[in-house]
Amino acid sequence: VFMALLGTATASGLTVLVLILVEATNILLPADTKFGIVLDAGSSHTSLYVYQWPADKEKDTGLVSQALACQVKGPGISSYTTDPAQAGESLKGCLGEALALIPGDLRQATPTFLGATAGMRLLSQKNSSQAGAILAAVSRVLGQSSLDFWGAEVLAGRDEGACAWVTINYVLGRLVKYSSGEWIQPAEGMLVGALDMGGASAQISFVPSGPILDESTQATFRLYGTDYSVYTHSYLCFGQDQMLNRLLAGLVQVRLSSPVLLVRHPCYLSGYQTTLPLASLYESPCVHAAARLNLTQNLTVEGTGNPGACVAAIRELFSFSGCEGPGDCAFNGVYQPPVQGQFYAFSNFYYTFHFLNLTSRQPLGTVNTTIWEFCQRPWKLVEASYPGQEQWLQDYCASGLYILVLLQALGFSEETWANIEFQKQAGGTDIGWTLGYMLNLTGMIPAEAPAQWRAQSH
Ligand code: AMP
Repeated sequence: VFMALLGTATASGLTVLVLILVEATNILLPADTKFGIVLDAGSSHTSLYVYQWPADKEKDTGLVSQALACQVKGPGISSYTTDPAQAGESLKGCLGEALALIPGDLRQATPTFLGATAGMRLLSQKNSSQAGAILAAVSRVLGQSSLDFWGAEVLAGRDEGACAWVTINYVLGRLVKYSSGEWIQPAEGMLVGALDMGGASAQISFVPSGPILDESTQATFRLYGTDYSVYTHSYLCFGQDQMLNRLLAGLVQVRLSSPVLLVRHPCYLSGYQTTLPLASLYESPCVHAAARLNLTQNLTVEGTGNPGACVAAIRELFSFSGCEGPGDCAFNGVYQPPVQGQFYAFSNFYYTFHFLNLTSRQPLGTVNTTIWEFCQRPWKLVEASYPGQEQWLQDYCASGLYILVLLQALGFSEETWANIEFQKQAGGTDIGWTLGYMLNLTGMIPAEAPAQWRAQSH
């Protein structure tokens, strides 16, 4: 059912596995709690999540809770190109924490998955054998653990978006709800859209009010007796880190004679300065190498703290042509029906807005003013206010303005802005694709409402 949205070859293989696993665990495990593990191998880092649920209520809704979120030390797995084995090694710390939480006799029955997102999607494009070696290395470590390891794969953007949509609607109880002693189907208007921004890609997923006219953007599934048709699209290279790379590359002035290349950057605060090897900018497939540029040079970046010029430079990263005519379109020629309903914006949307104290449903005007004011503050003062602990401090002006431009490009207006909630968690569970992915692969959301629910709700 729901499995249809994952690659068919893998999905059909896994479907068989699901049935065997569920049968086996039901027979062998009288224990009252079950566990599942998903590793989110993002472009900049990996997170490991342990979920738990009451064993006898496997197919109920909303009962899966997050027992552990562990941040793996070091960079994302796509960075281990020269030493893939280290990608596997890097997982061992969090894996140990997860194992410490799960009783020994339950480990073998703990389904464990690793899903890699846009960082690995990009590496697969650039060098598929390196990507394969990294997946093999992480699979080796997970496969050798005492857990029931199902596999490691690179998720398609569409699955990443669709699984995040399932997570948020499952956690908020919007798929089916137990109320006054019976199971009810919340109205369609209660469904929540998902806005997700990682380091390398950004996703939007929601149920539009009209039909979805481009099948490649549609994920369909039958959950608890209802058919859902979700619009979802992942914009590769529109995650925060890749956006920053593309922005900087766009501002690089070709000064072949100069031994040091200087960029005056409007999205960094005035007084901020940094130097980086120019070649590092062009490593990503999101950035097209500029001809005649000597890549052995260093690049010096100087902030000018000019939000107007920053917005103009960010807008250059979007193509609005092909989207002017009639028909539903967001940007870069991507089909999108008008945004509809309430949205949860998480990951980088949340981190940036949380830092700027903008997660309390402030109106768009206030949000704009706050970000513009932040961008005009001197770097020295900002740096002094957050001594030493802020890894991302220099990027919040750029990411704040980027979020405004991106949300506008996705069709949010002053009115629909009020429908966006900037949140990291719902009901103690981190919002992201991982929970929806596990529920899907383990068949924990049944296509039909279980018989006793139907009886109760009639
Ligand atoms: P990924 O590794 O693809 O999931 O992306 C994570 C993104 O979140 C990267 O762009 C990180 O730089 C960014 N990030 C993570 N934590 C924070 C934070 N506390 N503040 C700002 N950005 C963050």
